[in-house]
Amino acid sequence: MDYFAGIDIGSTAVKVAVIDEDRQIIGSKTAATGALVYKNAQTAFLSLLTEIGLSRKNITYLTTTGYGRKLFEDADETISEITANAIGAKQVGKPFGTIRTIINIGGQDSKAISLDEDGNVCNFAMNDRCAAGTGRFLDMAARNLEIGVTDLGEFHFNAEGTPAAVNATCAVFAESEIIGLLGKGHGREEIVKGIHFSIAKRTIRLVKRVGIEELLYFDGGPALNKGLVASIEDELGRRLVIPDIPQITTAYGAAIIGQESYCFEQEENKQQHADSKSALAEQYKSTLDPEYSATGSCGTSSCSSC
Ligand code: ADP
Repeated sequence: MDYFAGIDIGSTAVKVAVIDEDRQIIGSKTAATGALVYKNAQTAFLSLLTEIGLSRKNITYLTTTGYGRKLFEDADETISEITANAIGAKQVGKPFGTIRTIINIGGQDSKAISLDEDGNVCNFAMNDRCAAGTGRFLDMAARNLEIGVTDLGEFHFNAEGTPAAVNATCAVFAESEIIGLLGKGHGREEIVKGIHFSIAKRTIRLVKRVGIEELLYFDGGPALNKGLVASIEDELGRRLVIPDIPQITTAYGAAIIGQESYCFEQEENKQQHADSKSALAEQYKSTLDPEYSATGSCGTSSCSSC
């Protein structure tokens, strides 16, 4: 059995996915990218292999993606995260139909990707200039509100009053705004809900740049936050397709691309082998059978047929 691995080395988290020949996910893992990017990515990869009872030599093809992809020198291939995300979303979204728009919110950027009917990337827009509207903004807000980032969803749904207005267009100003709202006695739940709506509005402005086509797929770590999902759906007036493990779509896509590259290489080798075999056979024939000889001589001085 061949296994294929995809490693998505993001600005905030490393995601690893291992698939089998049928593209089933055998295991996945998420770890902090940290400062020692390559070391942390390698550790996450090897520890996932141990967890699923495999070793490095069981991985037939390794593909890396994400901002740190080039640091992983022992990869067989590196691929852009836009392509890997699109391939992963196309595969994961199959039971729902054809994915045409992807919203990806990462640790430090957000993207909107438009796919054609065959699932090929036809346009994309990216915000990587400003932390507002990204996971970093949510992490900062959670810290200021003294709650875990994983609890933001629960706080959102527990809000009873009107969501607090969070208008700052910059993460640094938004931090002051959140502190100001706390000082005025706003509840953390209402502030969280306000933050989610503020990110949702920014995200929709980004998606409008590529055009909104059904089906819409939302992934990246912040897609684990059900409050943010609800806010984007509310603002859009449409449902989003959310994968079971939204953070690993891109790593999964990279693993699929690796599987395709490997199969392509195998086919090419087979073809080359077949070509050289038939060339050899022709050569062999031409030395034995004068009919095949261009000069009419088989090259053997003692041959009576020539
Ligand atoms: P990148 O690829 O840029 O490193 P990710 O797609 O891995 O980014 O997303 C990282 C972000 O996801 C974090 O900054 C955090 O805000 C958010 N996140 C991660 N896990 C969770 C969770 N369980 N619930 C809510 N948000 C989460």
